[in-house]
Amino acid sequence: MKAAYVKAPYQCIVKEVELRELARDEVLVKVKACSVCGHDMIMAAYGAEDWQPFGHEVSGVVEKTGADVRNVSVGDTVVLESGTFDRFSAASRNGRVDLDNKGPNFWLKGSDTMGFAESVIVPREVCVPYNGLSFAAASIVEPLGVALDLAKTADIKLNNDVLVIGLGPIGLMAVKLAKAMGARNVYGAELSGSEARIALAKKWGAADVILSDKEKLEAYPFPRGGVDRVLVTAPPATIPAGLSVCSIGGILAFLGIDYGPGAFVTFDSNLVHVNKLQLRSSFASPALYFPECLDLIKSGVIPAEELITQTFPLEEIGTAIQRFSEDKQTAVKAVMLADRA
Ligand SMILES: [Zn+2]
Repeated sequence: MKAAYVKAPYQCIVKEVELRELARDEVLVKVKACSVCGHDMIMAAYGAEDWQPFGHEVSGVVEKTGADVRNVSVGDTVVLESGTFDRFSAASRNGRVDLDNKGPNFWLKGSDTMGFAESVIVPREVCVPYNGLSFAAASIVEPLGVALDLAKTADIKLNNDVLVIGLGPIGLMAVKLAKAMGARNVYGAELSGSEARIALAKKWGAADVILSDKEKLEAYPFPRGGVDRVLVTAPPATIPAGLSVCSIGGILAFLGIDYGPGAFVTFDSNLVHVNKLQLRSSFASPALYFPECLDLIKSGVIPAEELITQTFPLEEIGTAIQRFSEDKQTAVKAVMLADRA
């Protein structure tokens, strides 16, 4: 079967690989859709020092199961959790499965292939069966889990005003979730030139989008003088500006990642102190809430297919990723589809 490998900067190969034998607790999944994540783009740009498999936002069909697999059967349609908790850890036994991400997964254990391949071998624990969604829409479940974790972490309440900094797919879904959770006004902040993202944010309920490279967040005339919740899906350098527009008692939840000096930020601790602000981290590892995310897409709360601006076959992954990285204007989410209509 064929599988794709990535090496920075922007090199991709698709090559023939031999499938190994399945272990008793493993499942062979035929990949039907795998969407491109910001993390994949980082791997392609500078993250992958040597050839490595990639792709973790996967939907597909169970092709074969190991002898001890009971939770799925051949022919089931499944989405794959990108990380799981260890059921035997102290945190899990204490009821905090969200604090353990050492369970079986197909990502970090030196997998031979990942989502950008014809098939992938995964531990049984990661397979979540579903029905009634296209493979493309189902591939959005994994990033929706990330957005949902962010929204839950921010504890959005009825009538809150909310600011979402960064309108990539996660930020866009956070806008939609914030509205669904009862926010009054939801604002977005995004760099100018991202027309498709800005248009979708407005379609999904954003009251306004602040062009953060042209206008200071602090200068924006929020009707209540500030916002109750800030959700950051942009680099951590945006956290201080986010804190500065938090109203008293506000919560800023963030998941943006940067490396090197960009990981360090400075903010006014007195502002946080006297305004009783909270800075909270969202890290969707283990990947939770997949059944809830499947429901949110099925019920139309998250119109997942509206995010998808490009589809491509496995063979074209190199050019698709290159094109996606250059297209800031119209690109929102690219998805690899095994059977393109
Ligand atoms: Zn992802």
